Amino acid sequence: ARKFFVGGNWKCNGTTDEVKKIVTFLNKAEVPSEDIVEVVVSPPFVFLPVVKSLLRSDFHVAAQNCWVRKGGAFTGEISAEMLVNLSIPWVILGHSERRLILNESNEFVSDKVAYALSQGIKVIACVGETLEQRESGSTLAVVAAQTKAIAEKVSNWANIVLAYEPVWAIGTGKVATPAQAQEVHAELRKWLHDNAGAEVAASTRIIYGGSVNGANCKELAAQPDVDGFLVGGASLKPEFVDIIKSAT
Ligand code: 13P
Repeated sequence: ARKFFVGGNWKCNGTTDEVKKIVTFLNKAEVPSEDIVEVVVSPPFVFLPVVKSLLRSDFHVAAQNCWVRKGGAFTGEISAEMLVNLSIPWVILGHSERRLILNESNEFVSDKVAYALSQGIKVIACVGETLEQRESGSTLAVVAAQTKAIAEKVSNWANIVLAYEPVWAIGTGKVATPAQAQEVHAELRKWLHDNAGAEVAASTRIIYGGSVNGANCKELAAQPDVDGFLVGGASLKPEFVDIIKSAT
């Protein structure tokens, strides 16, 4: 069985006081044990040390990005080696905000995934189609191409969580229906089966992101191929705890 995974992507939000408040409600929350649900929160880089030091030990932290190769003369970048140095176990790569606003290509994202994994960092790899792509019927082709780019550079999927985040659902309040999410998750699992093998398909967590909240998470979590969530806006609020609880 795949362990349920709930990620909180804080994006470019927060002050020191605000992130401490989030950690405070997380630390008080009564949630299912680590055997049932894996919880990972992703503050901006500058808050990673303070969040890591204050956060309960059964929750973990992720960076929101990292440099594509070994560090060096790359002004403004944060390397995978630095994340290792700070004992940051996870990184989110290929988020649509980076693909679309920062122009990160499938190839660039897949290089980042391969490099982070090579340094021992676990990866939440994001894929997803735009509204235009969905309306033109290319959803599956888009997510397959994004996944293929990664599969070409990665053979061991044990440290990857695949996040399906339709761009039209992110930050819009327009959550995918449980059927829409299940359809794409099942297709992604089939793609993994056909291209990375039955074992990888059966064991890789495929999580959903895009306007997940405390009210809609239960029905999504009940879908057979939805193995958890990557939560944006609601991960800054106490309702994130309700989303964690949807694991059971
Ligand atoms: P929202 O939950 O705010 O729609 O964001 C989803 C997301 O992009 C998580 O990475």
